Amino acid sequence: MSRDVGHAPKVGVVGGGISGIACASALHASGIDVVVFDRGRRIGGRMASRRIRESGLPYDGRVVDVGASYFTANDSAFVAVVDDWIARGLAHQWTDKFAVLDPGSDPVIKVGPMRFGAAGGLGSLVEDLAADLPNVLYPQDVSSIQRTSTGVLIDDLEVDVAVLAMPDAQLRDILAADDPALSAVQVSAWDPVLALVAAYPHRTWGDLDGAFVNQSAVLSFIADDGRRRGDDAPVLVAHSGSVLAARFLDDPARAIPLMLAELRSVMGLQVDPDWVEIKRWSLARPRTMNADPFYFDGHLGMCGDAWGSVSRIETAWMSGDRLGRHIAASLIPMNSGLLAVATETDY
Ligand SMILES: Cc1cc2nc3c(=O)[nH]c(=O)nc-3n(C[C@H](O)[C@H](O)[C@H](O)COP(=O)(O)OP(=O)(O)OC[C@H]3O[C@@H](n4cnc5c(N)ncnc54)[C@H](O)[C@@H]3O)c2cc1C
Repeated sequence: MSRDVGHAPKVGVVGGGISGIACASALHASGIDVVVFDRGRRIGGRMASRRIRESGLPYDGRVVDVGASYFTANDSAFVAVVDDWIARGLAHQWTDKFAVLDPGSDPVIKVGPMRFGAAGGLGSLVEDLAADLPNVLYPQDVSSIQRTSTGVLIDDLEVDVAVLAMPDAQLRDILAADDPALSAVQVSAWDPVLALVAAYPHRTWGDLDGAFVNQSAVLSFIADDGRRRGDDAPVLVAHSGSVLAARFLDDPARAIPLMLAELRSVMGLQVDPDWVEIKRWSLARPRTMNADPFYFDGHLGMCGDAWGSVSRIETAWMSGDRLGRHIAASLIPMNSGLLAVATETDY
């Protein structure tokens, strides 16, 4: 059912991760005035990258993926987005083979779905999705969301609809504790992860793209960032387990020696890295999921990777895209001059 707000509708999206940008893109494609706020120095959220700096290495300045490792694509609408990235050289097929490392056993290679990477880092794909959006404001930390009689105040900007595209633990900081939207959130807690970047003078490890580390209290996953990003730089990114991350969340640098020793052991490395950096993710992944693909009550929407079946990039994109289309359909009166919402790509 659509409603006429009596003026050109305006939507504010708080969160410039892939879900928020997908939502804003769907709204913008329907002709709706949309503004995105993100508190980061760049948009992209957990699809984040860092640069290797002051390492003395030949590839100093190179980008490393320090958040999400890769993405998969099954949904036909998301596959179309990925195909477009690939056609324009922004994304590429990385691998369908990961090793499984068990201490004391030889690595086992397992074939799974195709995993995709991006030469410019995964965050570059979010920036690409946002390229057509006229109003993406960052760094812009939103501190309050308040309902009014006709819409929502995002700090002091009045909008008809506000979308909160972030983990619920972050939206609880800005939304009133008694807001009815919060009763729709079923996610109970989020697990943390520490991501260690280790840049080496040369490769001393075998033929491997990525590896799940089993039976380790320290590491859970290792990616060869050179093979993932396509330039073969000898850079590994190791993700901690959630228990270790929780233990060192206040001072992640203290986890570096432990993570490096485990990396050396499970990978059989002969040399130490010339440069290391650790990134803390307090809210890496939700422990449980919201069954619905998004939330919308007419003025306030919520989307993100906790809305759907499995927490991953594709889920976050689908959640944002679907919410954007849904809001557009609710705001555009049938006879207005705005574009109608496409229905062919319904999931
Ligand atoms: C270490 C790690 C490894 C992962 N590995 C994979 C993987 O291999 N494959 C995969 O598919 N997924 C992976 N994921 C998950 C994937 O990154 C997420 O599912 C996806 O990026 C979530 O996107 P989102 O838009 O829902 O949320 P986010 O990316 O978290 O975006 C939320 C945004 O909201 C902004 N924000 C929050 N509060 C405010 C505020 N008050 N004001 C303004 N802005 C605000 C934040 O700055 C952020 O940019 C991984 C995640 C982590 C952390």
